[in-house]
Amino acid sequence: MKAAVLEQEGRLRVREIETPNRADWALVAVRAAGVCGTELHFLDGMLAPPSYPFVLGHEAAGVVVDAPAGAALSEGDRVAIYNFVGCGNCLWCRTGREELCRSAEGQLGFSLDGGFAELVRAPVRNLIPLPDSVDFETAAILSCSGMSAVHAARLAGVELGKTALVNGVGGVGLMVVQVARAMGASVIAVADSDAKAALAREAGAVEVVVVDADDGYQQLPERVRQLTGAGADYYFELVGTTETMLPNRHLRCGGAPRPRGGAPTGRGGTAARRNRHPLSARGDTHGA
Ligand SMILES: [Zn+2]
Ligand SMILES: [Zn+2]
Repeated sequence: MKAAVLEQEGRLRVREIETPNRADWALVAVRAAGVCGTELHFLDGMLAPPSYPFVLGHEAAGVVVDAPAGAALSEGDRVAIYNFVGCGNCLWCRTGREELCRSAEGQLGFSLDGGFAELVRAPVRNLIPLPDSVDFETAAILSCSGMSAVHAARLAGVELGKTALVNGVGGVGLMVVQVARAMGASVIAVADSDAKAALAREAGAVEVVVVDADDGYQQLPERVRQLTGAGADYYFELVGTTETMLPNRHLRCGGAPRPRGGAPTGRGGTAARRNRHPLSARGDTHGA
């Protein structure tokens, strides 16, 4: 089969490779695969795969072409692929916190060959059936930024009439804006350019604060208070610097932020991988 293979740091090449062979996992014909900031970090060396050559792609959707006997899915089913492969059996895997699994197999596109290929293998439990109304391109994106945004908003407990501050409006941030708005919050976005501010408004932000590199974050708490009176009810952090990870400065009195997850640790670091997902003020380290 053909795959886009990371042959070494900075070199991605489309070439023939062996079809993945693991009988207890389903085989999916990839119809769409998203490109995330993560892939760019694999190319620039901030992240590294466990070995080369490696197939990137952690957000993909396609059609099941083979499934183990007894599986709930069968050939022809349309699916999105959830990339985190926990053991499936431990307390954490069984209670929806598989990112804490101590026996995790890894992550497709991070430590296991991913979806930049004609075919990819994944456990059946990681395949999410798609309704006909959701196309493959949409499903692929939802399997990363979409699910992360929904999960973060649920963890934060976003409620009707409250105010959510969304810092960073790249792919995931724009999803958080839409989800928080759909859950009834009014959203203030923080962008680093006018172009991104326009996108944030289009996604549903009622206000956008544009910060520049020099003194933007120093002014941000005051600007948020000017817009809200008392501060925001929720803070979603998608930038990942020490300065931006001090959410209590933007929140109203009475909040009890419990941010979790360390600062990025650089090349290949677990924290760096996990911090590509948003942290809510209630704390989250992964989109799972
Ligand atoms: Zn992604
Ligand atoms: Zn587990």
